[in-house]
Amino acid sequence: MKDSLVIGRVKGIQIEVHLSWFIIFALVTFSLATGYIPNNYPGLDQMTRWIIGGIVALMFFLSVLLHELSHSLLSISAGIPVKKITLFIFGGVSQLDKEPDEPLKELKIAIAGPAMSLFLSVLFFLLATLSRNIGAHEVFYVLFAYLSSANMVLAIFNLVPAFPLDGGRVVQALIWYFSGNLQKARKFSSAMGRVIGYVFIYFGIFMVLNGNILNGVWFAFIGWFINQMSQSSYQSMVMSDIFDKIFVSDFMTDKLEIVDDNLSVQALLEGYFYKYKYAVFPVRSNERITGIVSVESIKKTPRELRTQTTVRSITTPLTDNLIVRPGDTVSAAITKLFGNSVGRVLVMDQENLMGIVSKTDILNYLRIYSQLNK
Ligand SMILES: [Zn+2]
Repeated sequence: MKDSLVIGRVKGIQIEVHLSWFIIFALVTFSLATGYIPNNYPGLDQMTRWIIGGIVALMFFLSVLLHELSHSLLSISAGIPVKKITLFIFGGVSQLDKEPDEPLKELKIAIAGPAMSLFLSVLFFLLATLSRNIGAHEVFYVLFAYLSSANMVLAIFNLVPAFPLDGGRVVQALIWYFSGNLQKARKFSSAMGRVIGYVFIYFGIFMVLNGNILNGVWFAFIGWFINQMSQSSYQSMVMSDIFDKIFVSDFMTDKLEIVDDNLSVQALLEGYFYKYKYAVFPVRSNERITGIVSVESIKKTPRELRTQTTVRSITTPLTDNLIVRPGDTVSAAITKLFGNSVGRVLVMDQENLMGIVSKTDILNYLRIYSQLNK
């Protein structure tokens, strides 16, 4: 399902509009044309109100785009490519190729968006003042004044110190800079996001109880949104941490029972499968690892032929999807584990067998790791 529309490219960055944005665009235009404009400037006729409503909504959209573009352009100048920008309900998301690797880069990228919004707010404020002073049509004042406050709200909302909002990124970058520990910084800034999310929710409930229902619900909703974002961004960091920073050598089983390939299948069954109860054994021929045998391979040999059949004839030869290196990451190992039919991979360092990895090895390791790193 494609849920966003590509509207163009800027400096190689794909600009997309999420479909939900169209609903918000309609709502903003509607509320401007029927509420804000007639309330503040009753002199305008219906047609003009709708046209201005639409133009203001579009220019606000451009403001959000400029906010995201300044994040992206700073990111590119810091050497981190940006794939795309998606504009959606609450603003936008710039998809960087990777997280910044230095706190000062992160700080610059994070601050660029709110700085642009503040700049736009001041610019529109000056334009509003100017249009009034030169006696231009009231329409211009309406337009500029609204955009000035909308950009101010955008800057302030994004500066809320809750990761992954810009403000939370600023906090993270500062803690990272002073402590040198990204994980600690992320943990703190997303915990802060969760707390701030709850504060918004309680404040919203308080407003509802005091009769301010619409604003209260809105506040509570934003609070819930911030809370969820902070929580999931922390989990995703822990996950990507696990996937990129844990290596096969950390979780492989290195206690190995290797089978000689001139053994009979019957001896393999009794001396290995029933004895050690593993599902797969590596096979060697004169000190060289040639492949693996599994219970499945034994099942294919008729019972009465098992004493005269050698392991060699039922060995599954080593192929690329049965081998990982000790320095490969979890994700590389998982890809191969799920890609081959045996559910095991051998860990080879050149010609040497270092260990074996099963799905259970990975799951058990991750379970212990995540309990210790909660
Ligand atoms: Zn931003």
